[in-house]
Formats: sequence, C-alpha cells, structure tokens
Amino acid sequence: MTVQVDGARCIGCGMCAAAVPAVFGIRGRVSTVLSQPRTAAEEARVFDAANGCPVNAIRIRR
Ligand code: SF4
Repeated sequence: MTVQVDGARCIGCGMCAAAVPAVFGIRGRVSTVLSQPRTAAEEARVFDAANGCPVNAIRIRR
C-alpha cells in the first residue's frame, strides 16, 4: 500500500493524524504523510482514515 494526501483538498481537520499518528501528521494547515504504513494494522487504519476523510483527500494505491 502507498498512501498520499492531496494537500489541495485537505482541510486540516486532523482526523487522519489522530487515527494513525505514525503515518499522518498535520504540517502547517494540511495533513502530510510522515511515513508509509508498515504493518497490516496500520494499513487497516489508513484505509479507515481514507474512508472517513470528509473531502476524500487521502489516496491509496495497492
Ligand atoms: S482526514 Fe482528510 S481533511 Fe482531515 S486532515 Fe486528514 S487528509 Fe486532511
């Protein structure tokens, strides 16, 4: 899995960073990918965060 955040769409709500702090962090006003998910559990939480993002800013490639 490769995850990216579209900084042009992100509204900086912080949900993804709260859900998976090892992967997402708020930098400035938007979320950024700090490191790619390394475990199946992190991948599952990233997937949930992508589904929950209110503006669909999280992109996942398998
Ligand atoms: S959940 Fe979506 S809108 Fe909220 S900080 Fe993460 S990427 Fe941005």
